[in-house]
Amino acid sequence: MDILECNDLHLQINRYKQLILIIEKLHSYLDVNILLGEFCLALKEVYPDFSFSLLLSQDTYSHSDLPIIDLEYDSENIAAIKAYATGDLQFEFSSSDKHTIIYAPVKGKQVTYGVLQLIAVDTTEFPANDMEFLSLLAESLGSSIENAHLYQQSKREIANLQLINETSHCLNSNLRLVDTMTYMSEQIITSIDAQEVGFFLFLNEHAKVKILPGSTPYFYTKQAQIYIDYIKEKIELDKNPLFIGDSNLQNIKSKTSFHSILAVPMIQSEKLKGFSIVMHKEPYFFSFDTFKLLQSLIHHSSLALTNSMLREELEQMVITDHLTQLHSRKFLDDKIKWSMKESDEGTFILIDIDNFKELNDTYGHQVGDKVLVQVANLIKRNIRGEDIGARWGGEELAIYLPGVPLDRGAAIAERLVKKVSECSDPHITVSCGVSYWNKEQLDAYNYLFKRADEALYIAKGTGKNKVVIQKDNIRVS
Ligand code: GH3
Ligand code: MG
Ligand code: MG
Repeated sequence: MDILECNDLHLQINRYKQLILIIEKLHSYLDVNILLGEFCLALKEVYPDFSFSLLLSQDTYSHSDLPIIDLEYDSENIAAIKAYATGDLQFEFSSSDKHTIIYAPVKGKQVTYGVLQLIAVDTTEFPANDMEFLSLLAESLGSSIENAHLYQQSKREIANLQLINETSHCLNSNLRLVDTMTYMSEQIITSIDAQEVGFFLFLNEHAKVKILPGSTPYFYTKQAQIYIDYIKEKIELDKNPLFIGDSNLQNIKSKTSFHSILAVPMIQSEKLKGFSIVMHKEPYFFSFDTFKLLQSLIHHSSLALTNSMLREELEQMVITDHLTQLHSRKFLDDKIKWSMKESDEGTFILIDIDNFKELNDTYGHQVGDKVLVQVANLIKRNIRGEDIGARWGGEELAIYLPGVPLDRGAAIAERLVKKVSECSDPHITVSCGVSYWNKEQLDAYNYLFKRADEALYIAKGTGKNKVVIQKDNIRVS
């Protein structure tokens, strides 16, 4: 081997050492933008005299300072397109400029991401070793991009699955409808950056829709109606989800301020029950992945949602509350109406657990339910046969004492407040609002509730764990 050959070999060995280092480095980057930046730096180091560009087919990278351009499918780019389509290295010689242009495909295992273009000035022949080197370099860029893409994608998928799992778990824990929907709404807003989220239920053979709790306040305004009507009509027609990038391009009549709209039908047992709408003011704000995520979320929650609604409808109908075994609100209403006709007086106590949300958040809803049962049992133990203990709704309970004067009613309320504070585990307290009626000051029965509710409000605002009595607008505490 002569000296020249020996030098050449040396050079080649160095190149390959460089190549290995670059490849190792490229594979360690999981962010495509950083990866592209590092690749350009490395290439510049290896070929300081040549100019190069990356022609990429998916221009979704932020790289204003890098020599990256879109790969255009036009006749001026034949060699580049050929390299891209065939996956083989291509050359262009310009004898007049003494340029050699090399196009090396940047390919991964699944797709080709683009082409590396290298312009060797004042060179009509490019050494075969360099070509192989470039080809390997471009390929390793391709597999590194693929790697980073797959990593990002799997990270997104894992986050999405966690979100769906968490949401399903929470929805299946027998929440009240309002809690279920508020939770869903919060999850959607934080996970996909939505500005407005609305849930709608079809009523009366689809003639009308009812807005469900948890929807953002905008959906209660007049301006929101055009979106609701538009989506309702579309979804009723074919039950398909909608992905709108720019609503002004759709057939929505007036100009709209929310351009990006996603809508997903809520289907249960193959029946269309309602739909949800998610909106953002910026056009093309939501990605297709976001759309798919929303579909999964709604799909997984439809059953829990209909269950919540059915349970609450049922609660209205039955006379005994399932959880507490107290009477239902409907039963209580009927009894008070009857008592107002048949007896001379009566005392009404409205009971609300203090800071119950905090208790649920600390110990979970199941413990919350147990505490609710404990309070219900104390109520049952503190009243007599003809008195009525009831679940007013949610965490609010009520007692109606027919024929019982106010002072005795108030004493029962006081005793209950004391007992709850002494016996509950985990420790909780309750507040009570008390109201009273008699034949002299005959009340509309709604007003009896309203006054107890006002008294309860005062109890809450003045320290809780107490009884407030409201009697003829004269408040005694
Ligand atoms: P305050 O002292 O002002 O009453 O505070 P609070 O946290 O009790 O009041 P708020 O009305 O904000 O919260 C009531 C909570 O009660 C919200 C809801 O999650 C919870 N809740 C309602 N019904 C049930 C139920 O049946 N079981 C359980 N575990 N929680 C319930
Ligand atoms: Mg409450
Ligand atoms: Mg409460």
